[in-house]
Amino acid sequence: MYNFSSVFNDYYSRHLPIKEIGVEGQNKLYNAKVVIAGVGGLGSAALHFMALSGVGSITIIDQDTVEESNLHRQFFTTMDDIHIPKVEAIRKNLEKVNPDIKINALAENINERNVSEMIKGVDCVVDGLDNTTTRFLINRECVKQRIPYIFAGAIGYHGNVTVIDSPNTPCLECIMPELKGENTPDCSITGILNVTTGILGSIEAMEAIKIILGLDSVLKGKILFCDVKNMAFNFYPIFKKKKCVTCSFSSIFKNQSEKLTWLCGSDTVNINPETNLKIKFDDVKKEIEKCYKIIKISNLAISFEDKKNMKITLFKNGRMLIKNIDEKKAYKKYTELIKKLKIKC
Ligand SMILES: [Zn+2]
Repeated sequence: MYNFSSVFNDYYSRHLPIKEIGVEGQNKLYNAKVVIAGVGGLGSAALHFMALSGVGSITIIDQDTVEESNLHRQFFTTMDDIHIPKVEAIRKNLEKVNPDIKINALAENINERNVSEMIKGVDCVVDGLDNTTTRFLINRECVKQRIPYIFAGAIGYHGNVTVIDSPNTPCLECIMPELKGENTPDCSITGILNVTTGILGSIEAMEAIKIILGLDSVLKGKILFCDVKNMAFNFYPIFKKKKCVTCSFSSIFKNQSEKLTWLCGSDTVNINPETNLKIKFDDVKKEIEKCYKIIKISNLAISFEDKKNMKITLFKNGRMLIKNIDEKKAYKKYTELIKKLKIKC
């Protein structure tokens, strides 16, 4: 039970008079566990309201470091956090705003290997992602584990959001199978208004809070399209697809070979290690300093650059982000760096 006689006695005092919350609801929020997958514009807006509402255990997952281009739309990051893993910076800054909740920060990408464990036992998963591949992976796992998945997307002035609660609602595969593949608009090209992600992320937080409190949602079985330029908010019914491969647990998705290298953003390549490593930064730092200029060191990552302006971020588990490199050359560069820095695999 939440200790309402603590120094935070007053923190949620404006929540308590709300009929659907009160002490019982505040306790439900405090005992809840949620995952926010991706903490960019959407995810960090959702996080903002959920954390300040007192959701007691929030796992934030994001593979990226803080970039200057993120700051106009992302909560809990500052200019001082550039080059630091996003989740690490957010956890540090969020602790100052609500030290009463637990933030589990995972500086990783969500993949076939880890998705099941990452979302196991949570009350809901909130979508803050920028790619459809991971969305479909989460959709499938949420359907499998019967975990509500709050799906949202935003670009420019537009966004959409729905609550997927299998087996009672359609899943993402039922409603948007054409989104498969990387044919979705990119916010670095199309642009994104910070208010759009703010509104959509806030709606996601509201839906997550309703799930935790046991309240019903009009977004189950409906999708809300938002046009914030014209303030047009329209609901459309959505339907289950006959023989949906996800809803029917078809084996079609099983045993897919895992991709370790991919382009994320316009100029950065992500490389996952074949198996997770436990890198000792003290040892690696000495090796990096011999050949490279260190830009930033944090608990979860070291960022450094070479003389040709190639920027590299090495995470504790052996994952790397390499900026300003061709995707085809990235894996070769990765193996060279692992060898050069004397990292044991
Ligand atoms: Zn389905």
